[in-house]
Amino acid sequence: MEQHINITTASVSSIDTVDFDHLAFGSTFTDHMFVCDFKDGTWETPQIVPYAPMQISPAASVLHYGQAVFEGMKAFKDNNGGVWLFRPEQNAKRINKSAERLAIPTFPEELFLDGLKKLISLDKEWVKGGVGKSLYVRPFVFASEAGVQAAAASEYRFMIICAPVTSYYGGDVRVKIADHYSRAAQGGTGYAKAAGNYGGQFYPTQLAKAEGYQQIIWTDAATHEHIEEAGTMNLFFRIGDTLITAPTSDSILDGVTRKSILDLAAHLGIKTEVRALKVSELIEAEKSGTLLEIFGSGTAVVIQPIIGFGYKGTDYDLPLSENSYAEKLKNALVDIQYNNAEDPFGWRFKVCD
Ligand SMILES: *Cc1c(COP(=O)(O)O)cnc(C)c1O
Repeated sequence: MEQHINITTASVSSIDTVDFDHLAFGSTFTDHMFVCDFKDGTWETPQIVPYAPMQISPAASVLHYGQAVFEGMKAFKDNNGGVWLFRPEQNAKRINKSAERLAIPTFPEELFLDGLKKLISLDKEWVKGGVGKSLYVRPFVFASEAGVQAAAASEYRFMIICAPVTSYYGGDVRVKIADHYSRAAQGGTGYAKAAGNYGGQFYPTQLAKAEGYQQIIWTDAATHEHIEEAGTMNLFFRIGDTLITAPTSDSILDGVTRKSILDLAAHLGIKTEVRALKVSELIEAEKSGTLLEIFGSGTAVVIQPIIGFGYKGTDYDLPLSENSYAEKLKNALVDIQYNNAEDPFGWRFKVCD
């Protein structure tokens, strides 16, 4: 049964104040937002309302104990004005997997998809066509209950906000391989898209930035010997002709882009291996010249080539690769996202014309 969504439209649009060619990532938002509160053991009637600041109790549980999870996805406009999401049912499932780990009530998947569709349709003028342009969509849930008792809250708010974006990172990316700090531990919340997983990364990332790296490659918390992910991106390593990525685990986020790349690579005849990769193996491959590419994958960046890495004070540079897998896979993925190519996997999800 489809649940009714109450819609109140904005009296004026702020779209004319926005310079769509110069957008800082995720800092300009569309005219509307989706809101649904959880109270007395149930999700109340969802609403779409004008985008605006909201009141929250100073005692709201999320501010004290961090019960918050989120998602990130993108809507794309094709050459005929059609608007599409990319595999949103994956995000619907994943936000609930994350919610469960944080003791947050799950949100009905159909309502998640319907809310996305109605919200993005209402703000479809904000989805611009053209290379790199898209609408970044941010669903999230947080504990809204007022009270500082250290226990799972009984009231939550689920929301979706949308931000027009151009591409995420500019320039070359060099990464530092973590040998001290950790992002996620075995048995922890690393596989969940939990707000706190990010909060804990900012300080070590600031230190890495001061050393000249843009991001950190996280390793396993117990030994720092195995490569995990980049904290906002999953990672791929091309050694010889093989593309390697770590298996997902309770300390690695199961990225939609990652799993799509694995399927696309198979489709394009690129050999992949999903297996643990040690830092020592990576360094040996670099020394012997077989390490040809490293790239990160995530909704925001799609694919981000990494040009070098540092480990325990030594820097390693990657060769400039022609005919890179990164380029090939990114083009194939983006063509599907923008409806410029066949979609043999059934990944596109129509939002509106
Ligand atoms: C969101 C996220 C990713 C990328 O996932 P996608 O579904 O591809 O966007 C990778 N790692 C972490 C920690 C993330 O939060």
